[in-house]
Amino acid sequence: MQKQGMLSRPVTVLPGVGTRKAQSMKGLGLETVRDVLFSFPRTYKDFQKVLSPDQVEPGSVQLVHGPLLHLRERPISQGRRLIQATLGGQLGVTWFVYHRAPGPSFLYRKLQKVREVWVYGIVKEGALFPEMASPEVFTRQPVHQGLMPVYPLVTGISNDQRVKWVRESLKYLDEIQECLPQNLLDSYLGRQEALRQIHFPKDWEHYAKARERLACEELFLFHLGLQRGQRQQEGFAHQPDGELAARYLRQLPFELTEDQKEALRQVAEDMEAGQPMRRLIQGEVGSGKTVVAEYGAVKAVASGGQVAMMVPTEVLARQMAQRLEKSLGSLGIRVALLIGNMKAKEQQAVRETLAEGEIDVVVGTHALITDKVEYRNLTLAIVDEQHRFGVRQRAALLGKGNPDLLVMSATPIPRSLALTVYGDLDTTEIRQLPANRQPVDTRLINPERRDDVYRFVLSRVKQGEQAYVVFPLVEESEHMDLKAAVQEMEELQKGLLAEARVGLIHGQMGREKDEVFQAFARGELDVLIATTVVEVGMNVPNATVMVIENAERFGLAQLHQLRGRVGRGEKPGICFLLAYSSSPHSRERLEVVRKSNDGFFIAEEDLRLRGPGDLLGVRQWGQPFFRLADLQEDRELLRLAAEAARELLSGDASLQGYPELVQELDQYPI
Ligand code: ADP
Ligand code: MG
Repeated sequence: MQKQGMLSRPVTVLPGVGTRKAQSMKGLGLETVRDVLFSFPRTYKDFQKVLSPDQVEPGSVQLVHGPLLHLRERPISQGRRLIQATLGGQLGVTWFVYHRAPGPSFLYRKLQKVREVWVYGIVKEGALFPEMASPEVFTRQPVHQGLMPVYPLVTGISNDQRVKWVRESLKYLDEIQECLPQNLLDSYLGRQEALRQIHFPKDWEHYAKARERLACEELFLFHLGLQRGQRQQEGFAHQPDGELAARYLRQLPFELTEDQKEALRQVAEDMEAGQPMRRLIQGEVGSGKTVVAEYGAVKAVASGGQVAMMVPTEVLARQMAQRLEKSLGSLGIRVALLIGNMKAKEQQAVRETLAEGEIDVVVGTHALITDKVEYRNLTLAIVDEQHRFGVRQRAALLGKGNPDLLVMSATPIPRSLALTVYGDLDTTEIRQLPANRQPVDTRLINPERRDDVYRFVLSRVKQGEQAYVVFPLVEESEHMDLKAAVQEMEELQKGLLAEARVGLIHGQMGREKDEVFQAFARGELDVLIATTVVEVGMNVPNATVMVIENAERFGLAQLHQLRGRVGRGEKPGICFLLAYSSSPHSRERLEVVRKSNDGFFIAEEDLRLRGPGDLLGVRQWGQPFFRLADLQEDRELLRLAAEAARELLSGDASLQGYPELVQELDQYPI
């Protein structure tokens, strides 16, 4: 087999991988040999030390070897058996097994045949001696010594297979090129060594070094991708405000807040300048960011440009298009909608008119960045991102003519993070809420009072108001989780809320979801039970009550954002946080949201209180999914990586002198 270029070959070149296996591997994101190398272990089993039963210490995970004694099995309920034994009479071990057939279970028969075993599991204090419940058991010493990698798996693929494939892929490690600049390399492991150690670390210390190096690389490449070629380019210099902008501002039915005025001033300055604008407007829901976007759009159109506004969902795209139609249509600005869920013919028509310049402002989802879409003269791209878009998508939009960029985010993130995560964007904060806004009355509720909460919801419904009920879902693609949530939602619909007109939506519903939401928006439904999909900028002024189930499972900033959905009309909003965990920590977290109404403060607290490795939290920031880097723990690393990227680019903005880095960036899944 030819050695050069092995890493870019499909996984079928690996031993034992046929087309069927390759298909399963695809589900894990493994398509090439390189993917196998760059897909890291989820965790490790610590096989460094083999202890004898008298050496174990309760409280940690250990590998213990000893004679298997006192083995017995008994039924404990229909089809369930309990197997008990000791290792040398000094460590108790138990297993629960399902076994319906007559005679002893498979595991019991297997254990009967051996004199000694190796068990791996967490050791707990027992009544007589330490115990292990359901440890992994080996009848031979595990071949792997040291830290054994544990990989993410799917049906049809075992960990042993993955280990084997990694070993095979590591043979081609010398094809891997270094990608960090020298000054970082001075402090971190080389790339090849780090890859070797992340899969098969010699010990925890080696693991830590490998992880740090690869996290650094991840962050460095992320920043490089983010900042590449952004600054040096020429942009479109928009004209100073004229009649159209003045008319837009005059027709606003309210007085702008000071923060809004400042934001408009900055946007005007950026847009009029010859360099491209790269600005992030941060302000929580209802702080009035849309005015800033509208103003930018007016300014672009007045200068003969076009505007594309990208939002994360089709529902939002529709809402936003309607809203812009209302506020800008009267100024003679032509607004259109472009989403995937439109007839092919309609889409085609919109694309044609866009290309001809007959549309001024187009609002849409990802549909806006497909290759098919062409603009006559795109000078402003607005991304209402709610943290849903990756850098790639933002870059794709900018590829349509290098327009000015305005990113709007409704999840305030602490300044320290914004500076790093958003790399090269200039930031504007809108902290002040419009004066007429009343804070949402937020209450922490114990589960015993759940029925009362729903009675309250019904009483409000009787008065013609509407309510949201939100269920947490860690990740919408997690099947089990979804099933459980949907079941609970249905129970609620048929049970406590049976008297109300209830709609149910979750992220995997497709088109139907849109319809349910529209029905809610039109007032044809009283209660909307939803998974977190409701979080994203929905505006139904008649909704006054928000119930959040399992509130402890949400991030704080997310809770704050969710409750911002109610009380957007005349009547004040009320939010119930149902918490099923009484731990002081979760109580403390929820108290922050109950007491404060300042999104920026809540974000800082979230950052402070959130434990490392809290995936939900990380997702909530919506950061691009880093495989190794942890934005909380690796803040210093993030700063260094961002600096290094900036330094490199300041010398060579488009990385012309670094073809291998450019190649790396293209391969890098950000
Ligand atoms: P965001 O996009 O930040 O969530 P919006 O721009 O949608 O917020 O504003 C929320 C609501 O407040 C809208 O109905 C908007 O018309 C109104 N609004 C915006 N700015 C002001 C202001 N300065 N005074 C009063 N109402 C305002
Ligand atoms: Mg400009």
